[in-house]
Amino acid sequence: MKTSSCIRMSSLYAPTLKEDPAEAELASHKLMLRAGMIRKMASGLYSYLPLAWRVISKIEAVVRDEMDGIGAQEMLLPILTPAELWHESGRWDKYGPELMRTKDRHDRDFCLGPTHEETVTALVRNELHSYKQLPVTLYQIQTKFRDELRPRFGLMRGREFIMKDGYSFHADQESLQRTYDDMRAAYARVCERCGIRALPVAADTGQIGGSTSVEFMAIADAGEAELVWCDCGFAADTEAATCAVRVEEGPGDGTLQKVATPGCGTIESIAAFFGVPQEATRKALALIDAAGEPVVCIVPGDHEMNDCKAEHAFGEGYHMMTDEELAQYGLHKGSMGPVGLPAGVRLVADVSLKDSQSWLVGANEDGFHYTGARPGRDFQPTAWVDVITAREGDVCPTCGKPLHAARGIECSQVFQLGTKYSEALGALYTDANGDEHPMIMGCYGIGVSRMVAAIIEQHNDEHGIVWPVCVAPYEVSVIPLTVGDDVIAPVAERLTAELVDAGIQVVLDDRKERPGVKFADNDLMGFPYQLVVGKKALAEGNVEVKDRATGERELIAVDEVAKVLAERVISQRK
Ligand code: ATP
Ligand code: MG
Repeated sequence: MKTSSCIRMSSLYAPTLKEDPAEAELASHKLMLRAGMIRKMASGLYSYLPLAWRVISKIEAVVRDEMDGIGAQEMLLPILTPAELWHESGRWDKYGPELMRTKDRHDRDFCLGPTHEETVTALVRNELHSYKQLPVTLYQIQTKFRDELRPRFGLMRGREFIMKDGYSFHADQESLQRTYDDMRAAYARVCERCGIRALPVAADTGQIGGSTSVEFMAIADAGEAELVWCDCGFAADTEAATCAVRVEEGPGDGTLQKVATPGCGTIESIAAFFGVPQEATRKALALIDAAGEPVVCIVPGDHEMNDCKAEHAFGEGYHMMTDEELAQYGLHKGSMGPVGLPAGVRLVADVSLKDSQSWLVGANEDGFHYTGARPGRDFQPTAWVDVITAREGDVCPTCGKPLHAARGIECSQVFQLGTKYSEALGALYTDANGDEHPMIMGCYGIGVSRMVAAIIEQHNDEHGIVWPVCVAPYEVSVIPLTVGDDVIAPVAERLTAELVDAGIQVVLDDRKERPGVKFADNDLMGFPYQLVVGKKALAEGNVEVKDRATGERELIAVDEVAKVLAERVISQRK
């Protein structure tokens, strides 16, 4: 019997918990703790126990298969990265406290790599010189470190996690586009093969930089990411989505009128006062931009400002004004607006409002609002910015239909980086004429350990995990209902051996436990098929097979069952 394909439950290191652990909110986190898959060492640091490690190995195998299939080459870079490289790219300062920094005995600065653009670019700049050597795509599967502000949800957001990161180097944009397209397709297949229903969404490029980017989002209520999508195929992270908004004109006849609005300090109260929907109101937000200058930004009343977009518009480090700052610049909380702003406060407005001609806005005077305020006539924004979070009902930029909203778990992301790192680190190649250019780069990440959580979020029920066959830690569990019984035990052993010989990965639940305990544990651990060996069925020459996903049970002849089950399992591997 090949031992790697079979384990006795009595020796499996999977310490299960009967109760839901108090520290866990999400199904995936709870179930991984309860099924004895992971244990917490410290905030955001987890040990992967054997069941989890087997799942991770399977995901990694899928990733390797897909990467090798598009000509990417696996390698391994050091985790510890000298600060000099991060100084060259400018990210030593820019990455902020998320970068895990450390020093060696000579007091030299290092970081534990959160991503490896610097390291891989420094590698190839010494090795690749000619356009004839390009393109090249390298990847690794490695532990990454990020000192996340809020590590949480188990493997979903750790401070140490497993990532596949890939990087490609090109002499021209067409070549990058080809590799990017291949990667995108391979990433879609990775999710699909691992049993994840994922949507490719247009994404912001965040800390990594670059222009074009797509994230693969596992659709799940537990997801931290918000997205909008349309039946036509459009989908975007709300951090990146630029969607038209159904803006309603405010009340009034289009002339500027000052109206007393006693006690109306919120969008709800002002909408109620005028008897209009919130879409017909305008919200003014006061902030200090990254340069330290005061700004008032007007957005549709029914929309929120998006922090990620606001960083692009106002610079990293912008902040919303405190009450003291509002007072300092002469702004009135609850009645701010674009008409008659105090001198020195810059006015901007969300681009979705550009065509709207009659705004209901605060009058910069306590207890008063204006109706009929018109841009160009009554006030002039210095810029139209894109800062609002897209939401359900906004207009699809592709087809014009209303958008749907969903939550997602970001499993992976592909980026077209351009020359950001090759320029900064001097990774140059010479073209056919002997002229030097920075290489054009792409980078591609998959959150391997986060994918385990994503799979469970999409595949669980009230009894536990329901592994898709392709990533199940073991594919079949053989459950003898009485242990030590001289009829049942040999049959269970024989069926286990037959399954293993057929190439199936099997758990033999040889524990001296009541059937109820065994069923509960096997359901919790989520093996796709349970093969139950009991006296009654055996008397008729049968054993019972339970499909964990559907709960269906069927009796199959004991002499056939290994073959039938092996075929079924193998046909579901991807
Ligand atoms: P997030 O927005 O969720 O913080 P990110 O966009 O910063 O993620 P990337 O730099 O794109 O992450 O990293 C590639 C992949 O690594 C992500 O798509 C995600 O699946 C995974 N990942 C990122 N941060 C973590 C983390 N703290 N714990 C687990 N997986 C992570
Ligand atoms: Mg990302």
